[in-house]
Formats: sequence, C-alpha cells, structure tokens
Amino acid sequence: MTKNELRKKALCKRKQLNSDYKNLCDKIIFQRLLIYLKNKQINNIFIYLNLVNEVDTKHIINYFLIQKINVYVPKIIDNKEMVAIKIDKDTEYKKNSLKINEPLEGIQISPEKLDLCIIPIVGFDENCNRLGFGRGYYDRFLKRTPMSCLRIGLAYEVQKCKAIPIEKHDITLDCIITEKRIYFPV
Ligand code: ADP
Ligand code: MG
Repeated sequence: MTKNELRKKALCKRKQLNSDYKNLCDKIIFQRLLIYLKNKQINNIFIYLNLVNEVDTKHIINYFLIQKINVYVPKIIDNKEMVAIKIDKDTEYKKNSLKINEPLEGIQISPEKLDLCIIPIVGFDENCNRLGFGRGYYDRFLKRTPMSCLRIGLAYEVQKCKAIPIEKHDITLDCIITEKRIYFPV
C-alpha cells in the first residue's frame, strides 16, 4: 500500500474509537510514558497539541509544567517551517490553517536544545517508522534535533500498519507508545 492509502486506513480506524475507550487509552499511554521517562534527565520538552482524534497531550503537558520542566509546542511559520515555542499555564492559543492550536506568542527554542520530542502519529509500523499527515514537518524538524534527543511517538494500536514504505527523509522514532505496549526499532 502507498503512504496515502495507509494514512486513510489508519485515520479511519482511529476515528471509529469510541470516546470512553479513547479516554482510557489516553490514560494508559500517559502512565506508560511516565514510567518510560522515570530517571531520565529532561529539561526541554517539545510536545504536540492534539487534534480531537489524536492521543491527548493536555494532561501530559500539565504534568510537565507542574514539574517546572520547560515545555515547547509546534508553530508553523509561513506554511513551511515548524518551530518550537515555549508555553506556560497562561499561554493564549489560536487555531492555525490546519485547525491545530498554536501559541499566539512565546520564546522560540532551537531544536538542538531539546531533550525530548513527543510526536503525533497518523500511522506506524512495528519498526517505529512513522506516517504523518504527509507534509513532512516532523521529518524536517527532527533532523535538527541532537542524537541525544529522545523522539517518542504516541498512537493507538489501531493505527498500526504492516509496513510503511519509508523514504530517505523519513525519521525513525526511538519508540512508539500505544495502549498495548511500547515499540522499539529492531
Ligand atoms: P509525513 O512524514 O508527514 O508523513 P512524508 O514523509 O510523506 O510526510 O513527507 C512529505 C514531504 O516532505 C516529502 O515528499 C518531502 O518533499 C518533504 N520532506 C520531508 N523531509 C524532508 C527533508 N528532510 N528535506 C526536504 N524535504 C523533506
Ligand atoms: Mg515522513
């Protein structure tokens, strides 16, 4: 299957999850993430603000803000580049052209300074290959993060694909967390 066919299938399956089940999965994924991050030294986190069907990040973000960890979220500049903007509990947001909330203002950090990136997923395979919406924003952004930066994807099990036809520019993630397990590249 092509990337686009896989995207369509995974998005359709994700949309069918009922909201109680989704909420339960979100809680399990959050707990799994915390266990995985225990004892890891993290100062600067880049994390997405979820669309309705995506794995929820609200509670994860609040948790990190309470821990006094620096939290940055994506903002798209001129429809071409994704940058990381610092947020706090008072940050104001506005929806961008993709209907994703973005901070109105805030300090920008260079990707080189990030310790952890938490990434949304449209589809994934058992080798931690990722499909996004097909714009390549995360591939371009993650390329600029250091080797030491952890790249973690969050997804539901229904988004798993047999094999993703990866291209040279595609960045493999360090792990993908679902409600069932954590996947690592083999
Ligand atoms: P996604 O990762 O969102 O699923 P793709 O991997 O299909 O999307 O990438 C979409 C497009 O983004 C590619 O066809 C390519 O033109 C562009 N792209 C991705 N990464 C890079 C890169 N590192 N340098 C230049 N262009 C890139
Ligand atoms: Mg890609």
